[in-house]
Amino acid sequence: ATPIGLLVGTGRGAQMGILIRGPQVLEDTRKLDTIVLDKTGTVTTGVMAHTGTRTVDGVDEATALALAGAVEHHSEHPIAQAIAAAAAAQAPLAEVTGFHAEPGGGVKGTVGTQLVVVGRPSWLESQGVTLDESARQMLHEAEQAGATAILVAVDQQFQAVISVADKIKDSSAKAIAELQERGLRVVLLTGDNKSVAAEVAAQVGIKEEDVFAGVFPADKAKAISALQEQGKVVAMVGDGVNDAPALAQADLGIAMGSGTDVAIEAADITLMGNDLHQVTQAIDLSAKTLSTIK
Ligand code: ADP
Ligand code: MG
Repeated sequence: ATPIGLLVGTGRGAQMGILIRGPQVLEDTRKLDTIVLDKTGTVTTGVMAHTGTRTVDGVDEATALALAGAVEHHSEHPIAQAIAAAAAAQAPLAEVTGFHAEPGGGVKGTVGTQLVVVGRPSWLESQGVTLDESARQMLHEAEQAGATAILVAVDQQFQAVISVADKIKDSSAKAIAELQERGLRVVLLTGDNKSVAAEVAAQVGIKEEDVFAGVFPADKAKAISALQEQGKVVAMVGDGVNDAPALAQADLGIAMGSGTDVAIEAADITLMGNDLHQVTQAIDLSAKTLSTIK
């Protein structure tokens, strides 16, 4: 039978906007020693803005942005929305056929007769795009500036680097400090590039060795199981479609209420306030509830 105290605890949680799937979740919460955080949409707002476009010689910036934006318009990814919004602000978006989104990679589609591929380097390469030294240099410079740099290829020719950036949530640094004060190790896990991840980590007080960047969606779950194999009891906090396998793999999956349905379905706890401070609250609630029961 379920102790009544645990039910009271989940009820308390609900009042605080912390939706707990079942009473046993509170017991699992007490055993945690490692909290893994997704970056985009979890530590940061996930609301990205376009900050610049750089093109190869002979390619017009507005044209490159327009093509990328037309294709990205069909993706729900925050990066896609930023690029589509910037493109739409300069001219109406063109029609796209054959749209495909590759989770954790990017998108592709045909505009007129042109095949447009947009996303991270490995995604472009998987589509037969060769990235030469100057392309890599442009990418590197954009990333050094702290941006998430997205590459654009047209008919398999590299054409542009589009920079997007988002903001760290006001509450993140304090919430992460609270978790660390409770003796928890806080890890940042992201598909985004190393320099952006390192910059965000530094701003919120996560140690450099606790940053796992450039991780593909399938490997996010593997990163969790690797920690579990070291004997860690792990909570994963995320919001995206790409976080769902990791949320399911973790001892405790925690989704942002603003997150995708897939993430919420995979999670044990949903935070309606979209705020990492609620992770601390859930942990404190668990400790308090269990000590009351004993
Ligand atoms: P995160 O782990 O930060 O939530 P994702 O796993 O969703 O990030 O994406 C990882 C990387 O894949 C992004 O940083 C970006 O380079 C690329 N990417 C994914 N989706 C898109 C898209 N729709 N357009 C452009 N790039 C994308
Ligand atoms: Mg995310």
